[in-house]
Amino acid sequence: MKIEKIDVFQAYLPYSGGVYRLSGGREYTGFDATFVRITTACGIEGWGESTPFGSTYIAAHGAGVRAGIAEMAPSLLGKDPRHLDRINEVMDGALVGHNHAKTPIDVACWDIFGKSIDMPVCDLLGGRTATPLTLISSIYVGEPDDMAKRVKCYREAGYRGHSIKITDDPLLNAQRIEACMEGRQTGEYFIVDANGGLGVESALRLLNILPKTLDFAFEAPCATWRECISLRRRTSVPIIWDELAQSEEDIVNLIAEDGADGIGLKISKNGGLTRCRRQRDICIAAGYTMSVQETTGSDIAFAAIVHLAQTVPKKYLRCVLECRDMVSLKTADGDYVVENGFISAPRSPGLGVSPRMDVLGDAVLSYR
Ligand SMILES: [Mg+2]
Repeated sequence: MKIEKIDVFQAYLPYSGGVYRLSGGREYTGFDATFVRITTACGIEGWGESTPFGSTYIAAHGAGVRAGIAEMAPSLLGKDPRHLDRINEVMDGALVGHNHAKTPIDVACWDIFGKSIDMPVCDLLGGRTATPLTLISSIYVGEPDDMAKRVKCYREAGYRGHSIKITDDPLLNAQRIEACMEGRQTGEYFIVDANGGLGVESALRLLNILPKTLDFAFEAPCATWRECISLRRRTSVPIIWDELAQSEEDIVNLIAEDGADGIGLKISKNGGLTRCRRQRDICIAAGYTMSVQETTGSDIAFAAIVHLAQTVPKKYLRCVLECRDMVSLKTADGDYVVENGFISAPRSPGLGVSPRMDVLGDAVLSYR
């Protein structure tokens, strides 16, 4: 089996909530999404998506995804898409780094592999667990009451996890967290996510003024490795890494430093399903919990999240991100139905998605 053609599509995904606010004054109203369709010589098509969270979240942006694919595509033509480790070596040989550009190619190859042998991607990644996957909400920065209202809304929709975004003001952050956690239900889980926006001093001040009985994990408190490790040494609150954990090497170093209790495993941030499969196994060996997520994205990105999460043993799986909820454009159909806040990977071959070609339009780049 050989890769004959690589087509690249682009779409703009408006943020469904208007303006999404993160620490540091970052604002997002929509996202530049890239979709890859790989076609084999025998006519099997595979799809992948990569949607960076703007250009100020990590070192990635929409135009960079497509520029990265342009660097790698000629080297991939003629290669067997089922040989995923070899495909990743070819990509690494053509372009250093750039996880966001490699991800849609890697995911499209897994989609082809599954379709070629009539198996869902989760079974190729190790086999499905019996665990229905719980969804986590993403509560952007706002006034405490408004944030609490949004948590309540997601709670009523069946969500059991909530990711509370914060800025750099300790007192206001404490009010936000307490408002969001009021009325907490049995089985609910809260992450407080600073997206690297705090200094160690403001992080410690926040933790010092919060009631000690509040039960949450603290995600990405600071922007740098040194700051996060320093904070880790001085708090008993569980620490989750996200933006700073992007590779197997990062995670190995993190474990060696005993720097965290879990990570946000975001497929495009962490380099695709092949790399995430390794990172998943390293995390399991370390006893880390994983939030299986994406930087953001539409239906095809969500499909990859669900398949990967469906392979993580219950003990280590924190939640999956319903990234489809964050954007108002539907790019594909598939058997991805949320029931009472739970979802399971479909049993159809590959990712089990049918892209909406009327939405994706014509390819913006093609390689053959
Ligand atoms: Mg995060």
